[in-house]
Amino acid sequence: MKPFIYDYTLDQLQDWMKENGEPAFRAGQLFDWLYVKRVKQFEEMTNLPKELRQKLDDQFAFVTLTEITKLESKDGTVKYLFGLHDNHAIETVVMRHNYGNSICVTTQVGCRIGCTFCASTLGGLKRNLTAGEIVAQVVTAQQMLDATGERISSIVIMGSGEPFENYDATMAFLRTMIHEKGLNIGQRHITVSTSGIVPSIYKFTEENTQINLAISIHAPNDALRSKLMPVNRRYPFEDVMESLRHYIAKTGRRVTFEYALIGGVNDQPEHAQELADVLKGLLCHVNLIPVNHVPERKYVRTSRDEIFEFARVLERNNINVTIRREQGHDIAAACGQLRAKHMESTAR
Ligand code: SF4
Repeated sequence: MKPFIYDYTLDQLQDWMKENGEPAFRAGQLFDWLYVKRVKQFEEMTNLPKELRQKLDDQFAFVTLTEITKLESKDGTVKYLFGLHDNHAIETVVMRHNYGNSICVTTQVGCRIGCTFCASTLGGLKRNLTAGEIVAQVVTAQQMLDATGERISSIVIMGSGEPFENYDATMAFLRTMIHEKGLNIGQRHITVSTSGIVPSIYKFTEENTQINLAISIHAPNDALRSKLMPVNRRYPFEDVMESLRHYIAKTGRRVTFEYALIGGVNDQPEHAQELADVLKGLLCHVNLIPVNHVPERKYVRTSRDEIFEFARVLERNNINVTIRREQGHDIAAACGQLRAKHMESTAR
């Protein structure tokens, strides 16, 4: 199978041009066709010599994401289930906010992390996406928005999969997204979210980017976190916290803690107090996420009053906190649910 053209960063395209006896500026022209003009075939790149277009076509493929399902919410959220070339399916979500459009991308087909409240992990990990397959989610969504003159201005890497277990592809994707000659998404408008893969947090610390880091923490201590997130047995709570203290000290950047509230499990005031004690003095922010009902699990939703009480405890301890505004609630937008349903129906 031919590699995907979207797999290549601009630097790598320049290397390819050099190796193939072409001047480096051709890479810039190609990059412009891919990410500014957003054409779908080499044939359309009319300022590249015909022979070069042919050579590119012989050696590379475009990622084609087939739309299997598209669900549109009243609030403008659009959830796609895209089919890949090998019949796997992935979810991508475009959200409309008053400050612009954001996209939530997937980095793996399925996930092996096993968070107990998440549908994405139910069938385990099938495979990593290539950088190009992650890029294609943004380009495809942007091509659709081009019709109405809208732009994707922020990215969250919070779809299915653990981006830090597909580290190199995720970083190549990010390099392409932030390049000023391409889609030029502001680094501060991008957030990568991890379940706490400690070695990758140290690696990311050294990347010297302005990209935001979020951690799915979901519990205030080691024992409860291990119950909710088996990955905590591999990378224990205190090791994750130590890697984050290092990240904050080295980069001076704020970390976001994602905390999924699960009724009666981790959502009581004493959990909030314990979390506040752990986070005291750290440059951080907590994002509370009332967990969506996953039929395969027996979790119940935290009540509105309990959500606000949890937030109040954190605030009283001077911890910045927000409650995630739910988008696409009417289209059952919980991560992995659309794909899980699709897998069920194709297995029948
Ligand atoms: S929440 Fe994220 S890391 Fe955890 S199982 Fe789901 S996709 Fe994987």
